[in-house]
Amino acid sequence: MRKTTRSREIFSKAQSYFPGGVNSPVRAFKSVGGEPFIVRSGEGPYLIDVDGNRYVDFINSWGPLVLGHAHPVVVEALQRQLAMGTTFGACHELEVQLAEIVQRLFPSMEMMRFVNSGTEAGMAVIRLARGFTKRSKIVKFEGCYHGHADVLLAKAGSGVLTLGLPDCAGVPEAAVSDTLVAEFNSLDSVERLFSECGSEIAAIIVEPVVGNCCLLVPQPGFLQGLREISANHGALLILDEVMTGFRVALEGAQGLYGVTPDLTMLGKVIGGGLPVGAFGGRTDIMKLLAPLGPVYQAGTLSGNPLAMAAGIATLGEWMKPGNFEKASGVAAQLVFGMREAASRYQIPLQVEAVGTMFGFFFAHSPVLSFRDTLKVNKEAFVEFFKAMLDEGVYFAPSAFEAGFVCLPHSGEAIDYTLSKLPIGFTAARRAMT
Ligand SMILES: *Cc1c(COP(=O)(O)O)cnc(C)c1O
Repeated sequence: MRKTTRSREIFSKAQSYFPGGVNSPVRAFKSVGGEPFIVRSGEGPYLIDVDGNRYVDFINSWGPLVLGHAHPVVVEALQRQLAMGTTFGACHELEVQLAEIVQRLFPSMEMMRFVNSGTEAGMAVIRLARGFTKRSKIVKFEGCYHGHADVLLAKAGSGVLTLGLPDCAGVPEAAVSDTLVAEFNSLDSVERLFSECGSEIAAIIVEPVVGNCCLLVPQPGFLQGLREISANHGALLILDEVMTGFRVALEGAQGLYGVTPDLTMLGKVIGGGLPVGAFGGRTDIMKLLAPLGPVYQAGTLSGNPLAMAAGIATLGEWMKPGNFEKASGVAAQLVFGMREAASRYQIPLQVEAVGTMFGFFFAHSPVLSFRDTLKVNKEAFVEFFKAMLDEGVYFAPSAFEAGFVCLPHSGEAIDYTLSKLPIGFTAARRAMT
């Protein structure tokens, strides 16, 4: 049995300070039961907890850590910047350096602005899209998560979905009365909304590959269809690449699928493990932002030098020839291994990877939209999760979150994981009979 004494001790204290013991809901393990372990440190592809257990980490802090934990290049960049100051609230060169890297990979981001989280990027793009189009309605998709701004919390994914919150308390109806919800992978559902009130719609916002409802892969033509419909109606297309950026391909989903959005949101990987978000896009739209234009947006720590340094170091290493291919090769290895083990244990499993993001559903047929997730066998997932955790493999503690592969998973960590799959699937099997 895994030792959990210290974790339990600390988590019980945490529960008196933080609602649910956590500073972000999914960390509480509510949907898998049991208690979370308390992390002591991270090393490459591993997390070590306060009881000394080691786990292969397939969460990577929910996406950012493409190089794994405490990569020497990132540590060194941070140390160098630390000695020079941690925040200036003024312009500095690292902002420009990171912007140059981002724009090389995301040429649609003709201008951009750095913020501190994906949530902030989401708030800002919506305001900007409304300011530019002088319209107020927003189309989003069921199961997509764009941060916790009121306007975007209708039918959201991630923790909102995991906890089964029907709608979020505290969000006034007025805040979401202009939020229209469509079905992912259904252009018909989008056409319908546009035929009803196309002239009032400011923007479509979408996770191009949905990672907050496990993993929903866009069907051929879906993203292109969104591009066409929005353009035909004078609405903007916003791609939320907070999770997919640098992960499904270096150039994000827009590079992978060849779709050019008007505005893009980035986060997670861009900060190399420090809190950064970004949004950007067409110059004519971005020029509406203060101080050039009337759309206000600001941040005390935005463009923070430590965060910029971590982002630059991470992306510099990640973009080196062969690295992305190596990591996505590991994701493919995992998918192949899971498919094979599942079929050996006669377990219905849908498992996919796009670049370095992966997702699996205990279900008989492909899962293409939020509605399809209702047919997922959650009990099988919970048993699989617990058995793998006890063996030292940490998948997301929710059936509705994507998984992430990092560069150092290659070799020992993935081999270890594959060797433990029979234990995980035996446990899942038990839950299904
Ligand atoms: C994580 C995420 C966000 C929110 O980012 P935070 O940094 O957690 O605020 C927004 N959109 C997507 C697609 C995400 O995955």
